[in-house]
Amino acid sequence: MASIFTKIINGEIPCYKIAEDDSYFAFLDINPISEGHTLVVPKKEVDYIFDLEDEVLTGLMNFSKKVALGIDEALGTIRTGVIVEGMEVPHAHVHLVPIYFEGQPVSLGRKTEVSKERMEELAQLIGKAVKA
Ligand code: AMP
Repeated sequence: MASIFTKIINGEIPCYKIAEDDSYFAFLDINPISEGHTLVVPKKEVDYIFDLEDEVLTGLMNFSKKVALGIDEALGTIRTGVIVEGMEVPHAHVHLVPIYFEGQPVSLGRKTEVSKERMEELAQLIGKAVKA
């Protein structure tokens, strides 16, 4: 059965889309650690990130870099953190977590309330700042 992320990529489930190319797709995490928390996934569905072919893994990190720099530019972060865990959704993905101040807690257990309107705005702001 297709993963929830494959359904998002195929447009069967809605998301706050940020960017995509032929091989990768980025969208906001619906349970954000901080405003702008983004997931980057390969379109090819593989559960464990270290089972990805080398070139797919490299491409995933290169695409994540573009999106992270867009987050930094759009949201005025001090940097964007990277988390890979993958225990909930069996489709390899990178979490990009905007860090706004020193000492900001950055871990997957934490959640920030963000309204639907703000999620839409964040996706637009970041999407515009991601360089092709
Ligand atoms: P993990 O597999 O533990 O690395 O985390 C999976 C992440 O996917 C969690 O942070 C969820 O909030 C996120 N997530 C699950 N379903 C959706 C969805 N439909 N749209 C956006 N993010 C999702």
